[in-house]
Amino acid sequence: MSGLYIHVPFCKSKCPYCDFYSGPFLASADRYVAAVVAEYAMRRGEFSEPFSTIYIGGGTPSLLTLAQLRTMLDGIRHFGDFDGVGEMTIEANPDDVTTEWARGVKSLGVNRVSIGVQSLNNDELRAINRRHDSATALRAIDILRKEGIEEISADLIYGLPRQTVESWADSLSRLLSLRLPHFSAYCLQYEPGTRLYAMREKGSVEEASDSVIEQMYGILEENARTSGYHHYEISNFCLEGHHARHNSAYWDLTPYVGLGPSAHSFDGQVRRFNPSNLKKYLNTIESGKVAAVVEDETDVDKFNDYVITALRTAKGIDIGLLSARFPEFLRDRFMANAQPLIDGGRLLADADKIAISPYEIMKSDSIMRELIID
Ligand code: SF4
Repeated sequence: MSGLYIHVPFCKSKCPYCDFYSGPFLASADRYVAAVVAEYAMRRGEFSEPFSTIYIGGGTPSLLTLAQLRTMLDGIRHFGDFDGVGEMTIEANPDDVTTEWARGVKSLGVNRVSIGVQSLNNDELRAINRRHDSATALRAIDILRKEGIEEISADLIYGLPRQTVESWADSLSRLLSLRLPHFSAYCLQYEPGTRLYAMREKGSVEEASDSVIEQMYGILEENARTSGYHHYEISNFCLEGHHARHNSAYWDLTPYVGLGPSAHSFDGQVRRFNPSNLKKYLNTIESGKVAAVVEDETDVDKFNDYVITALRTAKGIDIGLLSARFPEFLRDRFMANAQPLIDGGRLLADADKIAISPYEIMKSDSIMRELIID
């Protein structure tokens, strides 16, 4: 089975921490919708496996009108490749979620909505220029539930400017009390090129210290666990049976197609990526050419990619898959690096898998650095 990802590159304004490709290009939305359908028509032959998931992410997919979404999805489904799709997710900004929107996306086959809540503290939301407040986020969740969309995921961020350990604990416990089937909690990253990164360099914002982040992570881990959530990937938590099927496929080398500017694809062997430039993407597709270019990856790059993504998950590295997919010399070098970490209890290993010990998740970056093959 494989997954289809559609990148919607529109946002009303740019959040200071965000390094996803998006911008205020909504005037091009109709051209974009037509280009996505045309891109799919050109590339559908690349993949032989049936699709089981569709994920519409971004950017802000909820900025597309329902008519544009319908044109895009009908245009793609017209090819008849999507009969086996069991999970269709769309990302939404809380203030775009209305009863009409929820009914509309449900009628298009969406059965899962991922909402960018980020925090339930208005001061923190203002600090990161979000256009919603906490009441709007809670109302959006309520609307989705009333309209029968039960599979809801919410994103939270810890380590935000103005956030304290106490305010993080408060946002988290209010979110957990909603008993959503799924949520993601990300540690704020200062990515080069973002406004937040520049603000930190200028000293106008202070990054949370390692000890504060560690406390916040401890609260997250413990409260999620005692509330019955399974911590199945570094940033992802779910109630039993509600893991994100689309995202899980990224972590175990399942093929996926990415449509839209900046989207990545993987056919099981080769990775491709579209340009992170809407104009270039539109011009290329409209001239009848495929925009995706093959990523220049060696076997070592592919191996490292797999190790890094698999180690983010509770399932860890699948030893059988490692043996089936990669040359023996890479496995041997990996095992030579991994053995001291296994002996020291930082990695847990059995006959089927190797995973990071739950006590070491906070230090996963340093573990991955030791496992990477040059
Ligand atoms: S709404 Fe989402 S995609 Fe858009 S700028 Fe903010 S974080 Fe990035």
